[in-house]
Amino acid sequence: MAKILDGKSLAKRIREELKLKVEDLRKKGVIPSLAVILVGDDPSSIVYVNMKRKACEEVGIVSHLFHLPANAKQEEVVELVNDLGKREDINGILVQHPLPSHIDELSVFSAIPLKKDVDGLSPMSLGRLAFGRPVFVSCTALGVLELLKHYEIPIEGKDVVVMGRSIIVGKPIALLLLQNNATVTICHSKTKDIWEKTKRADILVVAIGRAEFVKGEHIKHGAVVIDCGYNRPPEGGRDVGDVHFPSAEKVASFITPVPGGVGPMTIAMLLKNTIKATEVAL
Ligand code: NAP
Repeated sequence: MAKILDGKSLAKRIREELKLKVEDLRKKGVIPSLAVILVGDDPSSIVYVNMKRKACEEVGIVSHLFHLPANAKQEEVVELVNDLGKREDINGILVQHPLPSHIDELSVFSAIPLKKDVDGLSPMSLGRLAFGRPVFVSCTALGVLELLKHYEIPIEGKDVVVMGRSIIVGKPIALLLLQNNATVTICHSKTKDIWEKTKRADILVVAIGRAEFVKGEHIKHGAVVIDCGYNRPPEGGRDVGDVHFPSAEKVASFITPVPGGVGPMTIAMLLKNTIKATEVAL
């Protein structure tokens, strides 16, 4: 049976450390602040934004929510990001993904200044990561790396397969693990013989948004399985990842549960990045 990569308790520990850091900053009269931009009323996005706000509150970061209607024009969103970029009382800017389809994400993310890009999704941040000199790295990617490091799972020289190539999850994870000297294969919906590839992975990272798609039979014996997926069944019931946990845990050496794996780590890394952005601005 696989050992559990317990993101929930590691994230709790990180949050406690960050709370002390914020207390120190506050003693110096510095209050870290995060601006969260939400466009539209996607129910999952609302849940995620509320989780992020609550986590900020718990560690003493001030969060400001800017909630625009689903029909907001692209120029309005870009203008808001530009304004927040100039405000001295805002340390970090997070634009909740996904944006409505009429809005060009590249234009919006491009408007986030590098020093405030706490989710690491602007072209500048991703470019820096590609150069191997990151400033801010995507919170999910960073959370995955922290989990691997905490459990002392070697990355260097390992064959890593990342399923999913989104700009939010798959690509930054692949770049970050590449930077840590893994040999990385990225798979997507057009990949041929995908299971041949997943079965060669020492570390399999899954971020495809398909409930319980990857089963134990697709995983190499003893592999480390990182499930970034978070799927809320439309008919209710328990949330599940992109990996079928009951069959995968029989084959893997380590595995992240859903919930309680990558999700809490993502939020902890958002807090960490916001504090880093605050310190950078001092
Ligand atoms: P996305 O933008 O929809 O991207 C999904 C990716 O998976 C695409 O690259 C797609 O390939 C690929 N894909 C889809 N079906 C596939 C298949 N059958 N075989 C191989 N690849 C396939 O999703 P996302 O935003 O990256 O999110 C992925 C998952 O992570 C979701 O479950 C989401 O809820 C979760 N998530 C979790 C966190 C967290 O903090 N834990 C944060 C963000 C997202 P193509 O490019 O070819 O279409």
